[in-house]
Amino acid sequence: MAGVTAAGRRHRYVGPTELLTAVRPGAEGRVVGSAGDLSAWLAGQGTAEPAEPFTFVVGPEGLLRLAPRRSEHVACAGGADVLGAGEMGFGRAAGLWVVREVSNLSTGYCPHLDSWDAVARALDRAGIGRPAGFTHAVVFRRCVSCREINIVRESDFVCVFCGSDLPAAWNVAA
Ligand SMILES: [Zn+2]
Repeated sequence: MAGVTAAGRRHRYVGPTELLTAVRPGAEGRVVGSAGDLSAWLAGQGTAEPAEPFTFVVGPEGLLRLAPRRSEHVACAGGADVLGAGEMGFGRAAGLWVVREVSNLSTGYCPHLDSWDAVARALDRAGIGRPAGFTHAVVFRRCVSCREINIVRESDFVCVFCGSDLPAAWNVAA
């Protein structure tokens, strides 16, 4: 059940059912609980450039999980609810790992902008540097007329599927 707890807002998966049913147990993203975990995981990504965004989720326990870019968020999460989801890329500053780019771009979970708090906590817990907020923030709304999920562009709160006005408040899981 989606809802807001002390840990953050739980987002349930709202994407295509076939992606959820394709999730295999044990194939979820790697938990990154420390800068050492991140170094080890990035080293295992072969020629992947650390600055190019990877798929991430923050699980219900508040831990960051990473998966190779273009992985489905629902697979990274093992089909579970998440506190946050999106994409992030990394760089080095003063010998430490830092997040250079981070977004809430996940069409599987369509995270609320307040999911940033859970993302920030997960990164702080791991000792990975971060910006003050999403470097790319995506606004998701569900159309109350046709039920399709929209990405709102340039503050144009109109459904691209049916032309109805979109609500002012996040309502994807509602
Ligand atoms: Zn619509």
